[in-house]
Amino acid sequence: MKCNRWLSLMSASLLGCALAPIVGQQAIGNQPSQIAVGTSIWRNGSFPVEGFQGYTSPFGYRSSPTGGYSTEFHTGLDFAAPTGSYIRNWWAGRVISVSDDTACGTSVRVQSGSWIHVYCHMQGYAARDGQGSYIVDGGLRIREGQTVRAGQRIGRVGMTGRTTGPHLHWTLKYQGKLVDPAAVLRAMRRSQDSTVSLK
Ligand SMILES: [Zn+2]
Repeated sequence: MKCNRWLSLMSASLLGCALAPIVGQQAIGNQPSQIAVGTSIWRNGSFPVEGFQGYTSPFGYRSSPTGGYSTEFHTGLDFAAPTGSYIRNWWAGRVISVSDDTACGTSVRVQSGSWIHVYCHMQGYAARDGQGSYIVDGGLRIREGQTVRAGQRIGRVGMTGRTTGPHLHWTLKYQGKLVDPAAVLRAMRRSQDSTVSLK
């Protein structure tokens, strides 16, 4: 099992086995380099929202937030933040799609190498012109195909799509498979902590 191979490289208690086979890829310059979890590469990631108030719903199975007794799989991590808080792109990459007609609401999908990161429930709406689709939120426009830097403001927290309050829903996929964003955030935190301790 791939998981075991990587466990020696990191603290299993912090990251969990689920993240173990995952490597990060830098999309900068279109020359991705594979780097194992637990290295300083994670410093390049940006926390995805300003005005962060807390995590309201973790990744995984949960009871339906919009009522009823059904259980559903929550595909991402929810960050509570006041309406209008800026959403920041996690990793340098390219916008592969924008949309406003699903449960995800006004949303942006970014690809960075083998990673796809999705930002849901944003303010604004999707539109289309001769050059393709984009989302509009006041003066902010994010267009399909454009490159985005890590930390770049790509939208604002809203309530579009299926949501009971303002928050950012953030989904991460690596090679097409869902990843728990909390594990990635812990890897980022650990990377930053180790940088501090080296000084
Ligand atoms: Zn969510």
